[in-house]
Amino acid sequence: MPIAGIFGPEDLPHTALRTKPVSRSTTRTLPMPPVAWTPEVERETAHLYERVKAVIPPVEWPTMAPYVKAINDLKKERNAVILAHNYQTPEIYNCVADFVGDSLQLAREAAKVKADVIVQCGVHFMAETSKILSPEKTVLIPDSRAGCSLASSITGEDVRLLREKFPGVPVVAYVNTSADVKAEVDICCTSSNAVQVVESLNTETVIFVPDQYLAKYVASQTKVKVIAWKGACEVHERFTGDELKLYRDADPSVQIIAHPECPPDVIAEADFTGSTAHMINWVRDKRPKRVVMVTECSMADNVQAELPEVEFVRPCNLCPHMKRITLPKILDSLVNMREEVHVDPLIAEKARRSVERMIHLKS
Ligand code: SF4
Repeated sequence: MPIAGIFGPEDLPHTALRTKPVSRSTTRTLPMPPVAWTPEVERETAHLYERVKAVIPPVEWPTMAPYVKAINDLKKERNAVILAHNYQTPEIYNCVADFVGDSLQLAREAAKVKADVIVQCGVHFMAETSKILSPEKTVLIPDSRAGCSLASSITGEDVRLLREKFPGVPVVAYVNTSADVKAEVDICCTSSNAVQVVESLNTETVIFVPDQYLAKYVASQTKVKVIAWKGACEVHERFTGDELKLYRDADPSVQIIAHPECPPDVIAEADFTGSTAHMINWVRDKRPKRVVMVTECSMADNVQAELPEVEFVRPCNLCPHMKRITLPKILDSLVNMREEVHVDPLIAEKARRSVERMIHLKS
């Protein structure tokens, strides 16, 4: 059914969007390891280059391999693990990450991982989620300016005002939100489980924040009435159905798979809609000859590295926030233990309930 309404900050009596303060803390620093291309580096990283040779030209590898080796050595010294989102570049995703996945998979890993340090290669709300689920661990993000247009579209105060406007209606928050927002809602969801989470509440109506397009997609899959927020992903909202029709006209056999953060005309053109994890599994299972992957550009590179026989058509929209994370910044993070992510313990405790309620939903 169509969504029941859509609200933004201007529709509420009082609100002020706020920017999260960036916390920086530095503990014991280690000497910066050498980052030169040597025969030893070439030998020790050769097996990693095998994983990415379909997407990284040989001429570029000598600029990356010294960082890859230094990062992997330092992870052992720090007892650190790297969690990398599917939108990270291939050299991060394939060569230094210990766990890769979508927000839900990374949240689950953060909750159970055995390490002293988590380096989150993703955006700030993901690092906050890791800290919320692992308060005893040091969580680092290589560049705390890695934000998200969805997370910055709503505040905890906005959620409180929505509750006043719609008393008794439960609030579901996409994980692409700050800890303040997670602390105010009933349950979190990801694009993998959004419909299941909405239906788990057993109510006629839910408030769904902050992605209006994911809300519309959820509303199209359920009988529950959905009240949406006016947030959008700046990467996915740029795709259009007309653009996809051009790909289809050029090759009627091409398969189109889209992320549910895309606008409805894009979803209508797609052969399959799903989260990043579901899209990857779809390509692994179906092995299409040619596929248009309608999501952030690096994900096609990462799947291409694994499945070189599939031809990926890339309508390339990059997330500028995800691309703030680079090998030199990851190395700096491990050397200098920065930038450490802190979440107020009271907010973290409330936010943890919303995230854990989602994690413990039976799938
Ligand atoms: S791709 Fe969109 S939703 Fe994901 S981090 Fe970037 S802006 Fe946020």
